[in-house]
Amino acid sequence: MGRDRRRSGTLLLALTLAADTARAGEPVATVAPGGLVRWSGAHLLECERDGRRWAPLEGACWYPIDLEAEGELELVRRSTGGVAARRVRVGVYPYPVQELEVEEKYVAPPADQLERIERERRAVAALFRLETPRRFAPPLAPPLERLPASGRFGARRVFNGQARSPHSGADYRATPGTPVLAVAPGRVVLAAEHYFAGKSVFVDHGDGLISMSFHLSDIEVEEGSEVRAGDRLGRVGATGRVTGPHLHFGLRWHGARIDPGLLLGADAVAGVVEIR
Ligand SMILES: [Zn+2]
Repeated sequence: MGRDRRRSGTLLLALTLAADTARAGEPVATVAPGGLVRWSGAHLLECERDGRRWAPLEGACWYPIDLEAEGELELVRRSTGGVAARRVRVGVYPYPVQELEVEEKYVAPPADQLERIERERRAVAALFRLETPRRFAPPLAPPLERLPASGRFGARRVFNGQARSPHSGADYRATPGTPVLAVAPGRVVLAAEHYFAGKSVFVDHGDGLISMSFHLSDIEVEEGSEVRAGDRLGRVGATGRVTGPHLHFGLRWHGARIDPGLLLGADAVAGVVEIR
C-alpha cells in the first residue's frame, strides 16, 4: 500500500533532512514495546535514533524499541545514496500484569540500603551507554545449555500488592547450579551482588549490546575478563528479589530494553518487524 507515494516521499525527505528539518511521514509499521525493527538497504553507512548512532549489521539498520517507548518514533539511516527516515508506531502495551510475593525488604528496602541501591542503579546505567566495536551477530547462543520456554517479558510487576517497573528480561526456569553461559563473545563489565538482581554478570558484546544474567548462586568470571560464546559466567540461583531459583536474562541494545526472545531461542529473529 502506498509504496509509490512512499518512494517519492523519500526523495523529498532526503532533501528536508539535509536541511535538518526531518519529517518521516506517516508510520510504516507498528512495533510492540520491547520489539526490534530491521530496515534493510544497500550501501548503508550509519543508523540513528534519538541522536544515538551505530553501524549497520548484516545489510540492515536494526532499531531496538524500549519496553516503555510510546507514541511514534523516527528511525534514520545514512547510505551512500543519502539520508532517509521512517516513522514507526509503538503498539499498545501487550503484556499482562503479574502479581508476586517476595520478602518485604524487596518492596520497601530498609533506609540503610537506599544509598547502595542508588549506587548500583548508577553503575548499571553507565553500562547502557557503552559503545564498543560489535562482537556478535544474531541469533545469539543460548544462556543455558537447554533453553526452556522463556517467561513473562514485559509483564507489569506487582510485588506484595505494590506496582513496580515492568519485567525487562526473560525468566528461565532451571535447576539451581545449572551453568549460565555467555551468549556471544564480549567483556565482563560488571560482576557483583546487587540488592535486587542478586549475583549478576553484565557482558558488553559491543555495538551497544549488553547481556545480563541475574539471581546467580555463584559468579565464575571476573570483572574485566574476556569471554567467548558458551563460556561459563556462573550458576543459576535465587539471590536478590526472587520467588524461587531461575535465570533472569536481559538484553539492552543501544540503551533499549528488548525481548531477549528476539535474539535467542527457537524463534530468534522471527518476531523482528521488517520495514522498507
Ligand atoms: Zn526476571
